[in-house]
Parts: sequence; C-alpha cells; structure tokens
Amino acid sequence: MSNVKGQMSKVVNVVTEELSKGDLVLVKPGEKVPADGVVVEGESSVNEAMITGESKPVTKSAGDEVIGGTINNDGSLTVKVTKTGAESALAQIIKLVRQAQETKPVVQMLADKAANWLTIIAIVVGLGTFIYWFFINPSGAIFASTLAITVIVITCPHALGLAIPTVTTITSSLAAKNGILIRDMKGLEIARKLDYVVLDKTGTLTKGEFGVVDIKVQDAGYKVQDLLKLAAAVEHHSEHALAKAIVEEAKKSKIKFTAAKKFKAFPGKGAIGFVGKRKVVVGNRAMMKKVGVTVHRTLTTEHTRTVVYVARDKRLLGAIILEDQIRPESKKTVDELHRLGIKVAMLTGDKKEVAEEVGKKLGVDEVYAEVLPAEKVNIIKQLQAGEEKGLPRRSQRRRRVAMVGDGVNDAPSLTQAHVGIAIGAGTDVAIESAEIVLVKSNPLDIVKAITLSRKTDIKMKENLAWATGYNLIAIPAAAGVFSRFGILLRPEWGALLMSASSIIVVANALRLRGVKL
Ligand code: ADP
Ligand code: MG
Repeated sequence: MSNVKGQMSKVVNVVTEELSKGDLVLVKPGEKVPADGVVVEGESSVNEAMITGESKPVTKSAGDEVIGGTINNDGSLTVKVTKTGAESALAQIIKLVRQAQETKPVVQMLADKAANWLTIIAIVVGLGTFIYWFFINPSGAIFASTLAITVIVITCPHALGLAIPTVTTITSSLAAKNGILIRDMKGLEIARKLDYVVLDKTGTLTKGEFGVVDIKVQDAGYKVQDLLKLAAAVEHHSEHALAKAIVEEAKKSKIKFTAAKKFKAFPGKGAIGFVGKRKVVVGNRAMMKKVGVTVHRTLTTEHTRTVVYVARDKRLLGAIILEDQIRPESKKTVDELHRLGIKVAMLTGDKKEVAEEVGKKLGVDEVYAEVLPAEKVNIIKQLQAGEEKGLPRRSQRRRRVAMVGDGVNDAPSLTQAHVGIAIGAGTDVAIESAEIVLVKSNPLDIVKAITLSRKTDIKMKENLAWATGYNLIAIPAAAGVFSRFGILLRPEWGALLMSASSIIVVANALRLRGVKL
C-alpha cells in the first residue's frame, strides 16, 4: 500500500498498481518508495543498495530522483511519480538481466560442439561395444547390450549442457548485485583479456558536473547577464554537461530567458540557435571557426579549464569558463588497470591543455584530445589494429580494446570497441550501444567487471573439464575395457556417475556466488 497525497493535502491509501504518472505519494520513514519519481517535498536518506549495490544511504531532497523499490530511511518524502510498471528503473534492470542471461558466450559454442561430438561418440562406441562383446568376443546378447547401454548412458552429454549456462546465470546476477549490468555475455567474456581500456574524459573520469567559474565579456555593449541569457537560450535544448551548467548558472543568477528557436547541435563542437532574428553560437574554437567568428587571444588565457565561446551572428561576445571535477575513484581505477597489465588511454573532445592536465593527474598512458565523435571511432580502430603511437610496424599486433563512455558522442566507439562499457548516469544511446553498464557511474567498477570476467572464465573452463573429463575413464570402463581386471560398470552405476558429474558442475558454478568483487 502506498499513501497518495491528493491536491488538497488529503492522504488516501491506494495499492501500488493503481499509481499513475503525476500522482503525489507520501513515503514515510522505513517505507519502500513505491515507484520512480522526483522528490517535491521533504528530506531523507534513502537506501539504494538494491539498485546500485552501494550500502551507504543517499540523501534526497526536493528535485532529486528516487527509484521505486529503494527504502526510505529516516525522513518523510513527498514524491511525484514519473515512471511506473514496465517503464520503471527496476523493471528495466530486470529486463536487461534477463536479456543478458539469454545471450550466449562464445565458449557456449565450444560446449555445443563438444556435446555434438559426445553424442556421436556415444552411438559409435555403444555400437562398437555391442559388436565386440557379441561377435568378436562372444559373451551373450544380454551382456553385450547391457554394456552398450551403459556406454550410451555415460556418454550422454548432460553435464555439458549445464556447464556454461549455470555459470553465466550466476555471473550476471552477481554482477547486477555489484551494480554492473551485463547486456551481452560476449562482452564480459572478452573483458578478461583486454590490452587497452579507453576512457572518455567528461562524465566518465570526471563527474561531468561543470560549474561556471568565470564569465569574460568581449563586447563593451554587453553585460555578463546578457551573455549568459543568450547562451542559456541555446543550451536549454542541449543534453551536454556544459549546457546543463550554463542553464543552471542562468537560473541561479535569476536570469529569465526564452528558449532559442531552430536549435542545432554540432557534437564535439557546440550548438546554434536563433534568439529573435539573431543567430547565437556557443561552443569551442572549432565551432567558432566553423561559423567564421575570430577569437582574439586577449579574451582569455585559460589553459586548464573548459571555455565556451558565445557569439551573436559573426560577432564574438565573450566566453564562459567552466570547471569539472575528477571523480575521486578515477586515479585508483587507472592504477588498478595498470596492475592488471592493461594500458589506459583517455579520449576527449575537450581542449588539449585540459585533457593533458587531467591525464597527467591520473597517470594515463595516452591522451587523445580535441577528438570529434567520428574520430573517436577511428582511434578505437587504430588501437585495435595495433597502430599505437611511436611503435615500429613489426611490433604491432591486433589488440583487444574496451571503451568506457557516457555521451551521445561515445555511442559509436562503444559499438566499435570489443567491449563497450557505459556509465549508468549517461545517455540512453550510450547504454544501448554498450555490452556492460555501470549503474553506480563509478569507474572502479570497470576493474570489478574485468575481475569477474576472469573468474567467470576459469569457472567455465573448470566446468567444461568436469563435464567432459570424466568420460575419459568412464567410457572405457563402461565398454568393458577393464573387465579383465574384474572392473565392470553396471548401468545403474553409470547413471549415477553421470548425475554426479552434473551435480559437480552445478556445485562448482554455485561457488562463484561467494566471490567478492
Ligand atoms: P567529451 O569527449 O569530453 O565528452 P564532447 O565531444 O561532448 O566532449 O565535447 C567536446 C567539446 O565540444 C566540449 O569540450 C565543448 O568545448 C564543445 N561542445 C560540445 N557541445 C557543446 C555545447 N552544447 N555547448 C558548448 N560547447 C559544446
Ligand atoms: Mg562524455
């Protein structure tokens, strides 16, 4: 039951299924949040462990999003419902996990092949056994057929059918518990032997939450407010982290702006919109160059921060200077990847100076800056082909590359990479293009995913060995090869042995559940 708060602050009880979009729900301390929504009133800490795996409660107040199924701790919250049923975050996650459990790793093909062979072996050896004990070394029809049946029972590839699916099922649920969603098992499978992890900067290694630190005006006829007003009018339409920061800053300064018309985004560069009859352009130097606006060196000497230039028609009005923060876990992520023997590259559309500063702080091996979205794909391709900077052609070989990103501009590279890893807080296209999604947006989970991949691989191989290996002894025993030593496998013992191998395979897979990532 949920408490629906009506318009007139009258609270009525309804069942969760009856909730619809726009309803106001009162969530009391200790209650479950009944649906996805936005807090409109109150403050509380919410335990989101079931979605993110993070046990530390998250503080929620007006404007924050809450997820259906999470538990409200100490305060009371009024929540406006935004998503219910199949649309909700939880339903989406369940769907993703289901889909992932249906995707088959490549090693499954090996298991299927082995199963085919075992079936052929079962028939051939079974027939052979009968022929030997009936015609060549006549021991009677009953003896010959008993042995033949035992052989077929033993060889039947039961355990082999269980070997891989038992592991992948446990792997995907273990991953989900740790805030890692596997969308395609093949992606996780390759993750164990990566040569390169390529990380997008903004939103991945950094928080992607920019703050405006300075505004420089170039044109004497303009004030800071005017500049911000025009920029916000255009950025209102954009999903970019920089755009959000600019709109936020305008709102904070209580500047009223009307959204620009005929908005057009230029990924990796900036955007254009019309305010009245005037064309307003925001973006980096490349954007200004594209529309024929000259940027004077005197405007700003900023090196290590991001600059968004603002122009009206062909005239540069000024620049907004923004700063982002490196995520606290980023440095450790790079170190851990190095410890696993993986090289780390950073890829960004941002300025060289900003990128190199961040790259140096984190200790990444290579920095690719001022890269347009289409070029991002090419860099992934180059790395895959082994065309690494400064290496002679001879020592180049194909490499396995993972790409980690969050933005629209990362989507093509996520698809191109052997393993695409999307940051959970990122855009939907990025998530759609990725094999793995990090719900917590914590880059350290990349390392966890790789560790899980390696553990999963070992388990799969162990299981394949258990499922096929026992045949090496059991088949000859069943066929009566050891009969001269008085060893004969009776059919019921054969059946028991076969079941035992299935049980061993399942039990071995279950041990994966206890793994700490
Ligand atoms: P990243 O690869 O770091 O995620 P993007 O490719 O999204 O970066 O953007 C690269 C650069 O393009 C930004 O640093 C910014 O200078 C410019 N840019 C892109 N979109 C916008 C926008 N909407 N407003 C202002 N600048 C933008
Ligand atoms: Mg990005």
